[in-house]
Amino acid sequence: MKLSFYGATREVTGSCHGVEINGKKLLVDCGLQQGFDNVTGQSFPFHPGEISRVVLTHAHIDHSGRLPLLVKQGFKGSIYATKPTCQLLEIMLRDSAHIHELEATWRSRKQRRAGDAAAQPLYTVADAEQVFPMLIPCKYDEIIDIGDGARIRFIDAGHLLGSAYVELWLKEDGANKKVVFSGDIGSPDHPLIRNPRYISEADYVVMESTYGNRSHPPSYDIVSEFANVIETTLSNGGNVICPAFAVGRTQGLLYNIREIKERGLVKSFPDFPVYLDSPLAAAATRIYSGDLMDYLNDEASALVRAGIQPLSFDGLRFVETAEDSKKLNSDMTPKVIISSSGMCDAGRIRHHLKHNLWRRECSVVFTGFQAFGTLGRTLVEGTESSVSLFGEQIAVRCRIHNFRSMSAHADRDGLLKWIGAYEKKPETVYVVHGEHEICKSFTARLVGEGFNAIAPKYSSIHDLLTGEIVYEGRDMAKAKEQPGYARRDSAIYQRLLIAGTRLLEVITRNRGGANKDLAKFADQIDALAGKWDR
Ligand SMILES: [Zn+2]
Repeated sequence: MKLSFYGATREVTGSCHGVEINGKKLLVDCGLQQGFDNVTGQSFPFHPGEISRVVLTHAHIDHSGRLPLLVKQGFKGSIYATKPTCQLLEIMLRDSAHIHELEATWRSRKQRRAGDAAAQPLYTVADAEQVFPMLIPCKYDEIIDIGDGARIRFIDAGHLLGSAYVELWLKEDGANKKVVFSGDIGSPDHPLIRNPRYISEADYVVMESTYGNRSHPPSYDIVSEFANVIETTLSNGGNVICPAFAVGRTQGLLYNIREIKERGLVKSFPDFPVYLDSPLAAAATRIYSGDLMDYLNDEASALVRAGIQPLSFDGLRFVETAEDSKKLNSDMTPKVIISSSGMCDAGRIRHHLKHNLWRRECSVVFTGFQAFGTLGRTLVEGTESSVSLFGEQIAVRCRIHNFRSMSAHADRDGLLKWIGAYEKKPETVYVVHGEHEICKSFTARLVGEGFNAIAPKYSSIHDLLTGEIVYEGRDMAKAKEQPGYARRDSAIYQRLLIAGTRLLEVITRNRGGANKDLAKFADQIDALAGKWDR
């Protein structure tokens, strides 16, 4: 009975945790890593064919985006997730695959000019479509036997529609252990979704730490604040630009704007136009408006029962094509534009920033987490007087607002309250999904509160029966800080590193074996090392 960490170790993205039970391996989450080279940096340190099942906490790409790769490389099992997660995955994985295809086309052009072979996408839309028949939609709060001595239950995490903590009960050779995976922990009072729940009992907890070093500002009337920004900006003849994650945050913004319009809070322009400029966000909005009533909070479901569509209002326009998106930049009517990506590192939002950042009369409204190194982070921190977009320096003159209390992640107090809800302290709390320093400081805080907490390293292996660390793993966050890390290593060298990690795993599995066998194994490794040590 072992637990391994294959991503989001001392970093925010790439959540992927392995559990070994009765000789089988299952994964909890299978997220895409950001900041790695997309072709060489997404490999798994195990063979996907060895994995029997996957359990997903929620649909965000940093928790689900490597599923098509897993299937492409040989995974044939079932994938368990809540019903909304299954529905959202279909649009999100298709979109992710489409981006990989575009990126490969762009790379191929460049590589052919250099006389090299064409680039291959990490996975294609066709690969993503192989994932969907494997999805098993589940309900919250039901215990499901997934076989091989493992049972699971999804509990509402209040982070995204359908988001969940996974409770995992394991039984092996008469021993029982319970592991809880937090996925992403929500913060209370969000539009549409319910408040995060609490769990009271576990032997081991794997928890996120995104905002482990910060407090969100006290909650205030965000709807009035947002209405004020819209009123002032439109009165000055400017646009309100909202970079927003296409799934989750965008729907929260639409919900707030519907209320602003209903209450007539923007008095000078009651019919102001709102452009939703993201096909993915539009598709997600249709899913949110579908038959997911059971998953909405009381306020939103009361609206639906009263015949009101919570995400629909006069003046809302969906922008589908890139041409229509470009046209918005020459239309001088003051308007609200919601577009993605939420951190401004890709997508149509970059065009809108190029055309609006330099205009004093405009506003940019941030509502979500901005990772280190993204354009969004630079703008929120306000450290640069100009930024580079499409090879041009663009002055930053507009007003930048950061509605941090709208974050979909719990802050430090929220995380402490969540872990404090366990009636008995878990044997170990594994802290993941936080930038290096934040992960470290939150782990130290938990230790200070009397928890046995650690920030596990990449591909480390932990024995859940003895509590021992079987293999320490590698500090990938440190490795990634070295300039050109991923690009310097070829795909084949990455494969070799993975083979090496696998060898270590095989060694640990042979622990306690017959002396004769272990000696033979050691001799063979020594011979192999001797052959290649040149
Ligand atoms: Zn998330």
